[in-house]
Amino acid sequence: MAEPLALRAGISGGAGVATSQARGTRASQVIGSSIAVRGAEKRYGQFRAVDRINLDIEPGEFITLLGPSGSGKTTLLNLLAGFQSLDGGEILVDGKPVHNVPTHKRGFGMVFQSYALFPNMTVTQNVAFPLRMAGVDRATTERRVAETLEIMRLSDHANKSPSEMSGGQQQRVAIARAIVMRPKVVLMDEPLSALDRRLRESIQIEIRDLHQTIGSTILFVTHDQGEALTMSDRIAVLDAGKIVQIGRPLDIYRHPSNRFVASFVGESNLIEAEIMQKRGTTVTLKNRAGYVFDAESRDAIDVGRVTVLVRPERIAIANEPTGSSTPVTVTSAIFLGEILRIEAQMDGGDTLLIRCTDTARRPLPNVGDCLHVSWGSEDCWVLT
Ligand code: ATP
Repeated sequence: MAEPLALRAGISGGAGVATSQARGTRASQVIGSSIAVRGAEKRYGQFRAVDRINLDIEPGEFITLLGPSGSGKTTLLNLLAGFQSLDGGEILVDGKPVHNVPTHKRGFGMVFQSYALFPNMTVTQNVAFPLRMAGVDRATTERRVAETLEIMRLSDHANKSPSEMSGGQQQRVAIARAIVMRPKVVLMDEPLSALDRRLRESIQIEIRDLHQTIGSTILFVTHDQGEALTMSDRIAVLDAGKIVQIGRPLDIYRHPSNRFVASFVGESNLIEAEIMQKRGTTVTLKNRAGYVFDAESRDAIDVGRVTVLVRPERIAIANEPTGSSTPVTVTSAIFLGEILRIEAQMDGGDTLLIRCTDTARRPLPNVGDCLHVSWGSEDCWVLT
Protein backbone atom coordinates (compact mmCIF):
# COMPACT_ATOMS: atom_id res chain seq x y z
CA MET A 1 0.00 0.00 0.00
CA ALA A 2 1.21 3.54 -0.74
CA GLU A 3 2.52 5.60 2.15
CA PRO A 4 -0.11 7.84 3.74
CA LEU A 5 -0.51 11.26 2.28
CA ALA A 6 0.90 14.14 4.26
CA LEU A 7 -2.43 15.35 5.47
CA ARG A 8 -3.14 18.88 6.39
CA ALA A 9 -4.38 19.65 9.86
CA GLY A 10 -7.89 18.52 10.68
CA ILE A 11 -10.79 20.02 8.83
CA SER A 12 -12.19 23.13 10.37
CA GLY A 13 -15.69 24.34 10.97
CA GLY A 14 -16.47 27.92 9.98
CA ALA A 15 -13.01 28.72 8.65
CA GLY A 16 -13.28 25.88 6.22
CA VAL A 17 -16.02 27.56 4.23
CA ALA A 18 -13.58 28.84 1.59
CA THR A 19 -13.35 25.57 -0.28
CA SER A 20 -13.17 24.25 -3.81
CA GLN A 21 -16.38 25.82 -5.03
CA ALA A 22 -15.51 29.30 -3.82
CA ARG A 23 -11.89 29.18 -4.94
CA GLY A 24 -12.42 27.08 -8.04
CA THR A 25 -9.42 24.97 -7.11
CA ARG A 26 -8.82 21.31 -6.50
CA ALA A 27 -7.13 19.55 -3.63
CA SER A 28 -3.40 20.22 -3.47
CA GLN A 29 -2.79 16.52 -4.14
CA VAL A 30 -5.30 14.81 -6.40
CA ILE A 31 -5.35 11.05 -5.90
CA GLY A 32 -8.77 10.55 -7.49
CA SER A 33 -9.55 8.48 -10.56
CA SER A 34 -11.22 9.60 -13.74
CA ILE A 35 -14.55 7.90 -14.39
CA ALA A 36 -16.20 7.56 -17.79
CA VAL A 37 -19.76 6.29 -18.01
CA ARG A 38 -20.61 5.38 -21.61
CA GLY A 39 -24.21 4.61 -22.59
CA ALA A 40 -24.87 2.99 -19.20
CA GLU A 41 -28.16 1.17 -19.03
CA LYS A 42 -30.05 -0.69 -16.30
CA ARG A 43 -33.44 -2.22 -17.10
CA TYR A 44 -36.11 -3.84 -14.97
CA GLY A 45 -38.29 -5.56 -17.57
CA GLN A 46 -39.27 -2.84 -20.04
CA PHE A 47 -38.47 -0.07 -17.52
CA ARG A 48 -35.15 1.73 -17.87
CA ALA A 49 -33.99 2.82 -14.40
CA VAL A 50 -30.75 4.13 -15.96
CA ASP A 51 -31.32 5.13 -19.55
CA ARG A 52 -28.15 5.26 -21.67
CA ILE A 53 -26.29 7.69 -19.44
CA ASN A 54 -23.01 9.31 -20.47
CA LEU A 55 -20.93 11.01 -17.82
CA ASP A 56 -17.26 12.03 -17.71
CA ILE A 57 -15.79 12.74 -14.30
CA GLU A 58 -12.34 14.25 -13.89
CA PRO A 59 -9.80 12.96 -11.38
CA GLY A 60 -10.49 14.55 -8.00
CA GLU A 61 -13.83 16.02 -9.00
CA PHE A 62 -16.79 16.26 -6.60
CA ILE A 63 -19.85 15.30 -8.62
CA THR A 64 -23.35 15.20 -7.20
CA LEU A 65 -26.14 13.13 -8.72
CA LEU A 66 -29.26 15.16 -7.95
CA GLY A 67 -32.80 14.17 -8.79
CA PRO A 68 -36.22 13.33 -7.41
CA SER A 69 -37.06 9.97 -5.90
CA GLY A 70 -36.96 7.24 -8.53
CA SER A 71 -34.84 9.19 -11.02
CA GLY A 72 -32.09 6.54 -11.01
CA LYS A 73 -29.42 8.10 -8.76
CA THR A 74 -28.88 5.08 -6.51
CA THR A 75 -29.02 2.67 -9.44
CA LEU A 76 -26.27 4.62 -11.22
CA LEU A 77 -24.18 4.67 -8.03
CA ASN A 78 -24.75 0.93 -7.58
CA LEU A 79 -23.58 0.30 -11.15
CA LEU A 80 -20.40 2.24 -10.37
CA ALA A 81 -19.91 0.37 -7.12
CA GLY A 82 -20.50 -2.98 -8.79
CA PHE A 83 -23.53 -3.84 -6.62
CA GLN A 84 -25.53 -4.13 -9.82
CA SER A 85 -24.49 -5.13 -13.32
CA LEU A 86 -24.94 -3.09 -16.48
CA ASP A 87 -27.48 -4.14 -19.10
CA GLY A 88 -25.75 -1.98 -21.69
CA GLY A 89 -22.85 0.42 -22.09
CA GLU A 90 -19.68 0.47 -19.99
CA ILE A 91 -17.96 2.18 -17.09
CA LEU A 92 -14.26 2.99 -17.23
CA VAL A 93 -12.17 3.96 -14.21
CA ASP A 94 -8.86 5.53 -15.18
CA GLY A 95 -9.57 4.32 -18.69
CA LYS A 96 -10.10 0.66 -17.74
CA PRO A 97 -13.48 -1.11 -17.94
CA VAL A 98 -14.66 -2.28 -14.51
CA HIS A 99 -17.58 -4.55 -15.38
CA ASN A 100 -15.57 -7.68 -14.55
CA VAL A 101 -14.12 -6.24 -11.35
CA PRO A 102 -16.06 -7.25 -8.21
CA THR A 103 -17.08 -4.55 -5.74
CA HIS A 104 -14.41 -5.35 -3.14
CA LYS A 105 -11.66 -5.14 -5.77
CA ARG A 106 -12.74 -1.75 -7.12
CA GLY A 107 -11.19 -0.17 -4.02
CA PHE A 108 -13.87 2.49 -3.62
CA GLY A 109 -14.79 4.05 -0.29
CA MET A 110 -18.53 3.99 0.39
CA VAL A 111 -20.86 5.82 2.73
CA PHE A 112 -24.57 5.11 3.00
CA GLN A 113 -27.54 6.72 4.71
CA SER A 114 -27.45 4.06 7.42
CA TYR A 115 -24.09 4.29 9.11
CA ALA A 116 -23.57 0.49 9.04
CA LEU A 117 -20.96 0.58 11.82
CA PHE A 118 -19.99 -2.56 13.71
CA PRO A 119 -21.83 -2.09 17.03
CA ASN A 120 -19.46 -4.28 19.02
CA MET A 121 -16.33 -2.38 17.93
CA THR A 122 -14.96 0.93 19.16
CA VAL A 123 -14.59 3.92 16.83
CA THR A 124 -10.89 3.07 16.39
CA GLN A 125 -11.67 -0.56 15.59
CA ASN A 126 -14.38 0.43 13.10
CA VAL A 127 -12.05 2.81 11.28
CA ALA A 128 -9.17 0.33 11.37
CA PHE A 129 -11.30 -2.46 9.92
CA PRO A 130 -10.54 -1.91 6.19
CA LEU A 131 -6.80 -1.66 6.96
CA ARG A 132 -6.92 -4.92 8.94
CA MET A 133 -8.78 -6.65 6.09
CA ALA A 134 -6.10 -5.44 3.67
CA GLY A 135 -3.36 -6.86 5.92
CA VAL A 136 -1.75 -3.50 6.63
CA ASP A 137 0.86 -3.69 9.40
CA ARG A 138 0.02 -2.54 12.90
CA ALA A 139 2.20 0.61 13.02
CA THR A 140 0.86 1.92 9.70
CA THR A 141 -2.70 1.09 10.76
CA GLU A 142 -2.34 3.00 14.03
CA ARG A 143 -0.83 6.00 12.29
CA ARG A 144 -3.43 6.02 9.52
CA VAL A 145 -6.36 5.65 11.92
CA ALA A 146 -5.05 8.45 14.14
CA GLU A 147 -4.66 10.77 11.11
CA THR A 148 -8.13 9.95 9.87
CA LEU A 149 -9.78 10.43 13.26
CA GLU A 150 -8.07 13.81 13.47
CA ILE A 151 -9.33 14.84 10.03
CA MET A 152 -12.86 13.88 11.06
CA ARG A 153 -12.47 15.53 14.49
CA LEU A 154 -13.12 12.21 16.20
CA SER A 155 -9.88 11.81 18.16
CA ASP A 156 -11.67 12.42 21.47
CA HIS A 157 -14.15 9.64 20.70
CA ALA A 158 -11.61 6.98 19.68
CA ASN A 159 -12.54 4.49 22.41
CA LYS A 160 -16.31 4.94 22.34
CA SER A 161 -18.68 2.42 20.86
CA PRO A 162 -21.18 3.59 18.19
CA SER A 163 -24.08 3.40 20.66
CA GLU A 164 -22.40 6.09 22.78
CA MET A 165 -22.37 8.57 19.88
CA SER A 166 -24.90 10.85 18.19
CA GLY A 167 -26.14 10.26 14.62
CA GLY A 168 -23.82 12.96 13.25
CA GLN A 169 -20.81 11.51 15.07
CA GLN A 170 -21.64 8.00 13.84
CA GLN A 171 -21.84 9.24 10.27
CA ARG A 172 -18.44 10.91 10.69
CA VAL A 173 -17.08 7.52 11.82
CA ALA A 174 -18.61 5.91 8.72
CA ILE A 175 -16.94 8.57 6.55
CA ALA A 176 -13.63 8.04 8.38
CA ARG A 177 -13.88 4.30 7.69
CA ALA A 178 -14.61 5.01 4.01
CA ILE A 179 -11.55 7.23 3.54
CA VAL A 180 -9.03 5.48 5.77
CA MET A 181 -7.62 3.56 2.77
CA ARG A 182 -7.29 6.88 0.87
CA PRO A 183 -9.48 5.49 -1.94
CA LYS A 184 -9.31 6.99 -5.40
CA VAL A 185 -13.10 7.09 -5.52
CA VAL A 186 -15.59 7.67 -2.69
CA LEU A 187 -19.28 6.95 -3.32
CA MET A 188 -21.80 8.52 -0.95
CA ASP A 189 -25.51 7.66 -1.13
CA GLU A 190 -27.65 10.20 0.75
CA PRO A 191 -25.27 10.08 3.73
CA LEU A 192 -26.82 13.05 5.51
CA SER A 193 -30.52 12.48 5.01
CA ALA A 194 -31.08 10.96 8.48
CA LEU A 195 -29.60 14.02 10.22
CA ASP A 196 -31.33 17.21 11.29
CA ARG A 197 -30.86 20.36 9.19
CA ARG A 198 -28.17 22.10 11.27
CA LEU A 199 -26.07 18.98 11.55
CA ARG A 200 -26.51 18.28 7.87
CA GLU A 201 -25.28 21.75 6.97
CA SER A 202 -22.21 21.49 9.16
CA ILE A 203 -21.28 18.01 7.87
CA GLN A 204 -21.80 19.22 4.28
CA ILE A 205 -19.01 21.72 4.85
CA GLU A 206 -16.88 19.06 6.54
CA ILE A 207 -17.25 16.72 3.55
CA ARG A 208 -16.40 19.54 1.15
CA ASP A 209 -13.27 20.32 3.12
CA LEU A 210 -12.45 16.65 3.39
CA HIS A 211 -12.58 16.44 -0.40
CA GLN A 212 -10.00 19.23 -0.55
CA THR A 213 -7.82 17.41 1.92
CA ILE A 214 -7.78 13.91 0.47
CA GLY A 215 -8.18 14.70 -3.26
CA SER A 216 -10.33 11.63 -4.03
CA THR A 217 -12.98 11.68 -6.72
CA ILE A 218 -16.32 11.90 -4.89
CA LEU A 219 -19.71 10.87 -6.23
CA PHE A 220 -22.46 12.05 -3.95
CA VAL A 221 -26.14 11.18 -4.30
CA THR A 222 -28.85 13.45 -2.93
CA HIS A 223 -32.36 14.64 -3.65
CA ASP A 224 -31.65 17.83 -1.69
CA GLN A 225 -30.85 20.64 -4.11
CA GLY A 226 -29.36 22.88 -1.39
CA GLU A 227 -26.93 20.13 -0.48
CA ALA A 228 -25.94 19.68 -4.13
CA LEU A 229 -25.40 23.43 -4.63
CA THR A 230 -23.32 23.71 -1.46
CA MET A 231 -20.96 20.83 -2.02
CA SER A 232 -20.33 20.05 -5.65
CA ASP A 233 -17.79 20.96 -8.30
CA ARG A 234 -20.48 19.88 -10.77
CA ILE A 235 -24.04 18.66 -10.45
CA ALA A 236 -25.64 16.07 -12.75
CA VAL A 237 -29.41 16.49 -12.60
CA LEU A 238 -31.29 13.24 -13.24
CA ASP A 239 -34.87 12.76 -14.34
CA ALA A 240 -36.43 9.43 -15.34
CA GLY A 241 -33.09 7.65 -15.70
CA LYS A 242 -31.40 10.34 -17.81
CA ILE A 243 -29.01 13.19 -17.05
CA VAL A 244 -30.97 16.26 -18.10
CA GLN A 245 -28.26 18.80 -17.26
CA ILE A 246 -24.73 18.74 -15.95
CA GLY A 247 -22.82 21.81 -14.88
CA ARG A 248 -21.36 23.94 -12.12
CA PRO A 249 -23.80 24.80 -9.32
CA LEU A 250 -23.98 28.46 -10.37
CA ASP A 251 -24.75 27.57 -14.00
CA ILE A 252 -27.38 25.01 -13.06
CA TYR A 253 -29.07 27.53 -10.77
CA ARG A 254 -28.83 30.56 -13.04
CA HIS A 255 -29.15 28.91 -16.42
CA PRO A 256 -31.23 25.75 -16.08
CA SER A 257 -31.71 23.97 -19.37
CA ASN A 258 -35.44 23.35 -19.01
CA ARG A 259 -38.52 23.74 -16.80
CA PHE A 260 -37.77 20.56 -14.85
CA VAL A 261 -34.30 21.73 -13.76
CA ALA A 262 -35.55 25.28 -13.10
CA SER A 263 -38.27 23.96 -10.78
CA PHE A 264 -36.27 21.22 -9.12
CA VAL A 265 -33.18 23.30 -8.32
CA GLY A 266 -34.22 26.27 -6.22
CA GLU A 267 -37.53 28.07 -6.10
CA SER A 268 -38.70 29.58 -9.33
CA ASN A 269 -41.27 31.73 -11.06
CA LEU A 270 -41.98 30.39 -14.53
CA ILE A 271 -43.71 33.10 -16.52
CA GLU A 272 -45.26 32.60 -19.94
CA ALA A 273 -44.56 35.53 -22.24
CA GLU A 274 -44.68 36.56 -25.89
CA ILE A 275 -41.53 37.65 -27.72
CA MET A 276 -41.98 41.17 -29.07
CA GLN A 277 -38.46 41.89 -30.24
CA LYS A 278 -34.98 40.40 -30.24
CA ARG A 279 -31.66 42.26 -30.22
CA GLY A 280 -28.59 40.04 -29.96
CA THR A 281 -29.06 37.90 -26.88
CA THR A 282 -31.68 40.19 -25.34
CA VAL A 283 -35.37 39.64 -26.03
CA THR A 284 -38.21 41.99 -25.16
CA LEU A 285 -41.20 40.09 -23.80
CA LYS A 286 -44.77 40.77 -22.72
CA ASN A 287 -46.62 38.56 -20.25
CA ARG A 288 -50.36 38.02 -19.73
CA ALA A 289 -50.53 41.03 -17.41
CA GLY A 290 -49.17 43.22 -20.22
CA TYR A 291 -45.88 43.66 -18.33
CA VAL A 292 -43.10 44.35 -20.82
CA PHE A 293 -39.58 43.34 -19.78
CA ASP A 294 -36.25 42.30 -21.23
CA ALA A 295 -34.62 38.91 -20.70
CA GLU A 296 -31.39 37.21 -21.66
CA SER A 297 -31.65 34.28 -24.04
CA ARG A 298 -28.98 32.07 -25.54
CA ASP A 299 -31.60 30.55 -27.75
CA ALA A 300 -32.15 31.17 -31.47
CA ILE A 301 -35.90 31.65 -30.86
CA ASP A 302 -37.10 35.14 -31.86
CA VAL A 303 -40.88 34.78 -32.23
CA GLY A 304 -43.72 33.13 -30.33
CA ARG A 305 -44.30 32.24 -26.69
CA VAL A 306 -41.57 31.27 -24.26
CA THR A 307 -41.26 30.44 -20.56
CA VAL A 308 -39.10 32.77 -18.54
CA LEU A 309 -37.47 31.91 -15.23
CA VAL A 310 -37.31 34.66 -12.62
CA ARG A 311 -35.83 33.59 -9.28
CA PRO A 312 -37.78 34.90 -6.26
CA GLU A 313 -34.77 36.77 -4.84
CA ARG A 314 -34.25 38.66 -8.13
CA ILE A 315 -37.59 40.46 -7.93
CA ALA A 316 -37.41 44.02 -6.66
CA ILE A 317 -40.41 45.37 -4.74
CA ALA A 318 -41.50 48.95 -4.12
CA ASN A 319 -44.54 50.58 -2.52
CA GLU A 320 -44.87 53.08 -5.35
CA PRO A 321 -44.69 52.50 -9.12
CA THR A 322 -41.27 52.85 -10.73
CA GLY A 323 -40.54 53.36 -14.43
CA SER A 324 -40.16 49.62 -15.05
CA SER A 325 -42.57 48.09 -12.52
CA THR A 326 -45.90 46.33 -12.65
CA PRO A 327 -48.50 46.20 -9.85
CA VAL A 328 -49.23 43.00 -7.93
CA THR A 329 -51.58 42.11 -5.08
CA VAL A 330 -50.14 40.38 -2.02
CA THR A 331 -51.78 37.00 -1.30
CA SER A 332 -49.42 35.83 1.45
CA ALA A 333 -46.52 37.28 3.40
CA ILE A 334 -44.41 35.29 5.84
CA PHE A 335 -41.52 36.46 8.00
CA LEU A 336 -38.84 33.71 7.90
CA GLY A 337 -36.15 35.45 9.94
CA GLU A 338 -33.53 36.85 7.58
CA ILE A 339 -35.97 36.93 4.67
CA LEU A 340 -39.56 37.79 3.87
CA ARG A 341 -41.43 35.33 1.66
CA ILE A 342 -44.21 37.02 -0.25
CA GLU A 343 -46.70 35.57 -2.69
CA ALA A 344 -48.47 38.00 -4.97
CA GLN A 345 -50.78 37.88 -7.93
CA MET A 346 -50.18 39.75 -11.18
CA ASP A 347 -53.02 40.96 -13.40
CA GLY A 348 -53.89 38.07 -15.67
CA GLY A 349 -53.46 35.47 -12.94
CA ASP A 350 -49.72 34.69 -12.72
CA THR A 351 -48.64 34.12 -9.12
CA LEU A 352 -45.22 35.43 -8.15
CA LEU A 353 -43.05 34.19 -5.31
CA ILE A 354 -40.79 36.91 -3.95
CA ARG A 355 -38.02 36.55 -1.39
CA CYS A 356 -36.40 39.67 -0.02
CA THR A 357 -34.02 40.26 2.85
CA ASP A 358 -35.44 41.71 6.02
CA THR A 359 -34.49 45.33 6.60
CA ALA A 360 -35.59 47.79 9.25
CA ARG A 361 -37.29 49.97 6.62
CA ARG A 362 -39.39 47.20 5.08
CA PRO A 363 -42.58 46.35 6.96
CA LEU A 364 -44.21 42.97 6.39
CA PRO A 365 -46.93 43.64 3.80
CA ASN A 366 -50.54 42.65 4.49
CA VAL A 367 -52.64 40.36 2.35
CA GLY A 368 -54.45 42.55 -0.20
CA ASP A 369 -51.73 45.24 -0.28
CA CYS A 370 -50.61 46.50 -3.68
CA LEU A 371 -46.86 46.29 -4.36
CA HIS A 372 -44.90 47.22 -7.47
CA VAL A 373 -42.48 44.60 -8.75
CA SER A 374 -39.76 44.71 -11.37
CA TRP A 375 -36.74 42.78 -12.60
CA GLY A 376 -33.94 43.47 -15.07
CA SER A 377 -32.88 41.50 -18.13
CA GLU A 378 -30.00 39.95 -16.17
CA ASP A 379 -32.47 38.70 -13.55
CA CYS A 380 -34.40 36.37 -15.82
CA TRP A 381 -33.63 33.52 -18.15
CA VAL A 382 -35.56 32.26 -21.16
CA LEU A 383 -36.00 28.50 -20.95
CA THR A 384 -35.77 26.31 -24.02
P1 ATP B 1 -34.51 7.60 -4.20
O1 ATP B 1 -34.06 9.03 -4.03
O2 ATP B 1 -35.94 7.39 -3.80
O3 ATP B 1 -33.56 6.60 -3.58
P2 ATP B 1 -33.35 7.10 -6.82
O4 ATP B 1 -33.25 8.28 -7.73
O5 ATP B 1 -32.10 6.69 -6.12
O6 ATP B 1 -34.54 7.31 -5.80
P3 ATP B 1 -33.40 4.41 -7.79
O7 ATP B 1 -33.39 3.76 -6.46
O8 ATP B 1 -32.14 4.40 -8.58
O9 ATP B 1 -33.93 5.91 -7.69
O10 ATP B 1 -34.56 3.76 -8.65
C1 ATP B 1 -34.80 4.13 -10.00
C2 ATP B 1 -36.04 3.44 -10.49
O11 ATP B 1 -35.77 2.05 -10.62
C3 ATP B 1 -37.23 3.57 -9.55
O12 ATP B 1 -38.40 3.77 -10.32
C4 ATP B 1 -37.28 2.21 -8.87
O13 ATP B 1 -38.62 1.88 -8.51
C5 ATP B 1 -36.75 1.29 -9.93
N1 ATP B 1 -36.08 0.12 -9.34
C6 ATP B 1 -34.99 0.15 -8.55
N2 ATP B 1 -34.65 -1.10 -8.17
C7 ATP B 1 -35.55 -1.93 -8.75
C8 ATP B 1 -35.74 -3.34 -8.75
N3 ATP B 1 -34.92 -4.16 -8.09
N4 ATP B 1 -36.79 -3.84 -9.46
C9 ATP B 1 -37.61 -3.03 -10.14
N5 ATP B 1 -37.48 -1.69 -10.20
C10 ATP B 1 -36.47 -1.14 -9.50
